[in-house]
Amino acid sequence: MLATNVEHEIAGRTVLITGGAGFIGSHLAAALVGDNEVRVLDDLSGGAREFVPDGAELYEGDVRDPQAVAEAMRGADLVFHEAALVSVEESVTDPERSHQTNATAALTVLEQAREEDARVVLASSAAIYGHPESVPVEEGDPKTPSSPYGIDKLSLDHYARAYHDLYGLETVPLRYFNVYGPRQNPEYSAVVSVFFRQARDGGPVTVQGDGEQTRDFVHVSDVVRANLRAATTDNIGEPFNVATGRSVTVRELAETIVDVTGSDADITHVEERPGDIRHSEADISKAQEGLGYEPTVSLEEGLRELAEMDESR
Ligand code: NAD
Repeated sequence: MLATNVEHEIAGRTVLITGGAGFIGSHLAAALVGDNEVRVLDDLSGGAREFVPDGAELYEGDVRDPQAVAEAMRGADLVFHEAALVSVEESVTDPERSHQTNATAALTVLEQAREEDARVVLASSAAIYGHPESVPVEEGDPKTPSSPYGIDKLSLDHYARAYHDLYGLETVPLRYFNVYGPRQNPEYSAVVSVFFRQARDGGPVTVQGDGEQTRDFVHVSDVVRANLRAATTDNIGEPFNVATGRSVTVRELAETIVDVTGSDADITHVEERPGDIRHSEADISKAQEGLGYEPTVSLEEGLRELAEMDESR
């Protein structure tokens, strides 16, 4: 089930993965290395050198630096743009840095891809929808992002489309919902890894608010599958939701994690996070039809695997 074992037919390509030392990017690198020349551009601000698989070349540099991007992308024909300031909270504290890292750097990547005539698959986010009016969320639904992070990802998403429409660049923005799996960084308030850490430490597992808020959790190996489909699809220049199309409450998530870890931790409720989104669930029919994407890992299965691996990061 690990992303390393994801089957695909991408071979003989020169691939750049920005943010490839991070959670999602390193799984993507692991799936592609061996059959392809894989390069990783990462400043290691959130990722780790040891996550870059053997055989991939690490370019230690900043995606905000056009020179670094140009050097890492030289001769590449396929780019996965994963690097980002991923913390919504940090984007609220420092919106300019978020804009530079999440919006301007995406433009830098797209500009360089134009030079190389490389396909670019970009990590967009469910954050662009803000507080959805209804769920499941379809790609064409209203977008009112509630954080600088969401605004910057929406601009990345628009630029990806516009670069296709204006310049014929092959782009595919993928709107990830809540991704989880091995190597996720608990510092970025990723609820699955926070609950795992709390359960393993004996608790309490702290649910914010009443716990009835819902999320669509998608396993990282399925996110890798979606990226690999996006790398070869004919349906370019348009966005796709990447999720499972099912949601659970955060309370249910906490209970399942306590169960699969065999922890005797109590689940307690703490103050609701201001601005927290109430319900999030994707309609994935466009990705199913347009990319041939199908989620393969159930939440329970993915959480059990994480518990067995005993690896939150
Ligand atoms: P991550 O923090 O594990 O990975 C991001 C990587 O980008 C890290 O290795 C970090 O060192 C690198 N990076 C950050 N700033 C950089 C810079 N200026 N220059 C070069 N490298 C830089 O996070 P992740 O969860 O793997 O996220 C990957 C992508 O998916 C991001 O674009 C994120 O916004 C998006 N996304 C993630 C989720 C999720 O649930 N994890 C949901 C929606 C979207």
